[in-house]
Amino acid sequence: MRRISIFGATGSIGQSTLDLIGRAPEAYEVVALTGGANVAQLAADAKRFSAQVAVIADEALLPELRAALEGSGTEAAAGQAALIEAAARPADWVMSAIVGAAGLEPGLKALEQGATLALANKESLVTAGKLLLKTAEQYGAQVLPVDSEHSAVFQALVGEDIAAVERVIITASGGAFRDWPMEKLAKATVAEASSHPNWDMGQRITIDSASMFNKALELIETHEYFGVSSEQIEVLVHPQSLVHALVGFQDGGLMAHLGAPDMRHAIGYALHYPTREKLPVERLDLARIGQLDFIAPDAARYPALELAYRVMHEGGLSGAVFNAAKDAALDGFIEGKIGFLQMAEVVERVLDLLLPDDGLINAPMNLDNVRRATHLGQSSAERLIRGIDKT
Ligand code: NDP
Repeated sequence: MRRISIFGATGSIGQSTLDLIGRAPEAYEVVALTGGANVAQLAADAKRFSAQVAVIADEALLPELRAALEGSGTEAAAGQAALIEAAARPADWVMSAIVGAAGLEPGLKALEQGATLALANKESLVTAGKLLLKTAEQYGAQVLPVDSEHSAVFQALVGEDIAAVERVIITASGGAFRDWPMEKLAKATVAEASSHPNWDMGQRITIDSASMFNKALELIETHEYFGVSSEQIEVLVHPQSLVHALVGFQDGGLMAHLGAPDMRHAIGYALHYPTREKLPVERLDLARIGQLDFIAPDAARYPALELAYRVMHEGGLSGAVFNAAKDAALDGFIEGKIGFLQMAEVVERVLDLLLPDDGLINAPMNLDNVRRATHLGQSSAERLIRGIDKT
């Protein structure tokens, strides 16, 4: 039996992971399941899968979780320290699907006990990619990408030499506002940005898809995970979301990965790697689909992409600053403090402010310095947001 833990079990990726596990429960022993605030879902899943421990991030919810798990045999715990303790429990495979920079520390802890880390939490790679991959190397652990584009690149690279790669192309649906006129974007509401044309995902990543901040994170993720330079990475808008990524080799060949927009493919690939098992995903009928479209992204419509190239050029802890500023700007938009287009303006101004600070950006990449860069990125963005007039 494989011992597995799922961080962010109550979210979209976590639930898709449990869907796969639930189809062959005899093959898995569930060690830890964690959630942020959704006690009912966490307790129900912990009981269904007889988890050793269930952890809720919000400490105030511990009594509720305890009550829900009474008599089940699953331990209840809460808070950041409990999340880290759960990540330290021996497991063979750990899904990292907490949203945001909060996913980094449990991921590092899981690697330290040698687990294979299935990484949906792209923010870990953006914030501290070198630290994460160095930790994996140090403890002989493996990080497997779960983001659909990165799983696609990973699959296209099986048996290939990374030195023969000329370019990596990741695709983007264009999000909820792909066809909106620019003037209308300034007034886009949270509800409008929270609905994706092709993928069913958590709210934050759905809004990030509309602004292309999600693709910006993925550009940096590609750079960090595969070690390719920023000049080698491209984005193509592909409205159908069926080609997830393409890898171009030095002989001119392009390897594309196609699949239905269903995260259970990438999750299942990471779960069964290096073998392939049957997965409950739609099989594409290409004759019926008939046509695949590719469009160069419009830089004026998606300023987040340019910011990602700036971060890749800068390196060091600029990714931590970028991710924190992006998250604060996203909070500002969700809370109605800034407009949709002002998210990119806030992040750009934070980069203008903090990237020249060599002592901050080029400090050694350890947890303390990552926390400092994250804190400064967040507080600078929050200060800017307070001074913004939304109208
Ligand atoms: P969701 O918002 O659906 O789920 C997030 C999970 O994280 C939930 O379990 C939530 O708990 C938990 N959580 C939130 N805040 C905290 C916190 N501070 N501490 C601990 N746990 C917390 O997100 P998704 O599943 O969509 O995304 C998860 C990650 O996967 C993100 O990094 C995203 O970018 C990435 N990803 C997602 C894809 C998708 O299709 N959804 C595709 C590719 C990558 P609760 O709900 O109980 O509050």
